[in-house]
Amino acid sequence: MKVYPLYLSGEWVTTESSKPVINPATGDPFAEISMIGRDRVEVALEAAHDAFKSWRKLPGKVRGVYLHRIADNLEQRKDEIAKTITLENGKPLQQSHAEVGLAVDHLHWFAEEAKRAYGRIVPNQVEGKRHLVIKSPMGVVGAISPWNFPLVLAVRKVAPALAAGCTVVLKPATQTPLCAVAFAECVHAAELPKGTFQLVAGPAPEIAAEFLENRLCRKITFTGSTEVGRLLISGAAKSVKPLSLELGGHAPAIVFEDADLNRSVDAAMIAKFRNTGQSCIASNRIYVQRGIYDRFLPAFVERTKALNVGDGLEEGVDIGPLIDEAGLNKALEHIQDAVAQGARLNCGGERITGRKGFFIQPAVLSDVPHDALCMREETFAPIAPISVFDTEEEVINLANDTIYGLSAYVFTTNLDRAFRVMESLESGMISINDGVPSTSQCPFGGVKQSGWGRELGLEGMEAFLETRHVSMGLEI
Ligand code: NAD
Repeated sequence: MKVYPLYLSGEWVTTESSKPVINPATGDPFAEISMIGRDRVEVALEAAHDAFKSWRKLPGKVRGVYLHRIADNLEQRKDEIAKTITLENGKPLQQSHAEVGLAVDHLHWFAEEAKRAYGRIVPNQVEGKRHLVIKSPMGVVGAISPWNFPLVLAVRKVAPALAAGCTVVLKPATQTPLCAVAFAECVHAAELPKGTFQLVAGPAPEIAAEFLENRLCRKITFTGSTEVGRLLISGAAKSVKPLSLELGGHAPAIVFEDADLNRSVDAAMIAKFRNTGQSCIASNRIYVQRGIYDRFLPAFVERTKALNVGDGLEEGVDIGPLIDEAGLNKALEHIQDAVAQGARLNCGGERITGRKGFFIQPAVLSDVPHDALCMREETFAPIAPISVFDTEEEVINLANDTIYGLSAYVFTTNLDRAFRVMESLESGMISINDGVPSTSQCPFGGVKQSGWGRELGLEGMEAFLETRHVSMGLEI
C-alpha cells in the first residue's frame, strides 16, 4: 500500500512509522500516511521560523502571486483531488468538487487580501510627534484541521496566514491527510520558499503540545470539537499562546408559518444533509411553527426518503457513509434515545446492512423533546429532528438554549420578523431563507462555546496580524 510522505522544509519525507487511511465507504484501508513525533515537529517549527524571516518581508502583492499560483495548481488537479476527498472522507463526489472550488476561491480571495494589511496614521496630540498603527504578521502558525471538510478548512487557515506574512505548519485530521498531501504538492509546485508551508502528521496530542509549548510557534489556529478546543485553551494558559478556535455547533433552523414552503424545505434539506449531516453548521434542530407543521413535515419526509445513499464515487449519490464506526454508533444512539423519550421516527434511521462501510439511512424524527440527546449534542449524521412551536418568543428561547452559537437558519417572508429574530439569536452566522451561508468574503465563526475569532472575510487575515503602535518624536 502506498505510504504518502510529509512535506518538511521543502522536502518530501516518508517515514518508517505510518498510519492507514480508511475509505469510509468500504471500511478498508487504501493508503498510509507517514507519521512523525514531537521531535520532528520541533525541527519543522525551527524551519518555519527561519522561513518567516524572509517571507514576512516580501511585498503583500508578491505573497499574493504565490497564493494565486497555488490556487491555479489546485484548479488544474481538481478532478483528482475531489476524488481523494471522497475516498478518505466519503462525501458524494459533486460535493468534493464544490469543496475544491471553494478552496480555490479562498486562495484567490486571500491572494488579493495580502495587499491590504492596512494600518493607519493617527493625528498627534502634542507637537513633534507622529503615531503610526501598523499591522505585522504574528510569526510561525501551528494549524490543526478536522476531517469533515478536509481541504477547505485547512485552506481557510493556511491561505490567510501566508497572505499575512506568517509561515505555517499544518496538522490535518488523522482520518483525512491525503488531500493535505495534495495541497502540499500544489504549494511545492508553486515554488514557495522552503519552510514557508509544511505538512506534519502524528499523534495529535503530541503535536499540539509542541505547538503549545514551543516558543517559536506564535499562534495556533484550530478547527474541531469544543472538547479538544477546551484542551487547547487550558494548554495555552501556560504559554499565553494566542488561539483561533472554530469549534462545534448545534444550529437551529426555524420555519415560521409565513415561510415559503418549497423554499424552506429546499434550504433546510441542504442545511441538514450536506456532507451527510457531518457539518459544523448542519441544522441539528428544526423548529416548525404549528400553522405550517402539517405541510412542512410530510414534504421534508418525502424529500428525505428520496435521498440516494451510496459510495460517494457512484453516480447520483446524495448521502455517503459516515466517517467511521464511532460516528455511526453515535447516530444510532441519538435515534434510540429520541424514540425512547417519545419522538416519532418518520423514516430511515437504520444501519444499511449488506454493504461494507458506515452507512445509515437518512432519518426524520418528529415531536422530539428538548432534552433528547440529538437536541443538545452534535449528532453529525443525516438525522433531522423536528419539533413544533407556537410563538416567536418560545422558539427564540429554545434556539438559544445551548452552549453552542455557530450558525442558525430562519425561514420567513416577514421582514420585520426576520430582523427581530436575527437580532435575538445567539449565533455567529444567521441565514435567512438560505441554506448555505459560507462565502470567501464574509466572516465565518461562532459565539459562546462555538469558538473564538473568525475565518474568511476581512477578519480572516486579521487573525494572523498583530496591531502595533509606533510613536515617533520628530523635529518638524
Ligand atoms: P476533533 O476535535 O476530534 O479533531 C479536530 C482536529 O484536532 C484533528 O486534526 C484531530 O487530529 C485533532 N485532535 C484530536 N485530539 C486532539 C488533542 N487532544 N489535542 C490536539 N488536537 C487534537 O474534531 P473532528 O471530529 O475532526 O471534527 C468535527 C468537529 O469539528 C465537530 O465538533 C465540528 O462541529 C467541528 N467543526 C467546526 C467547524 C467550525 O468552523 N466551527 C468546522 C468544521 C468542524
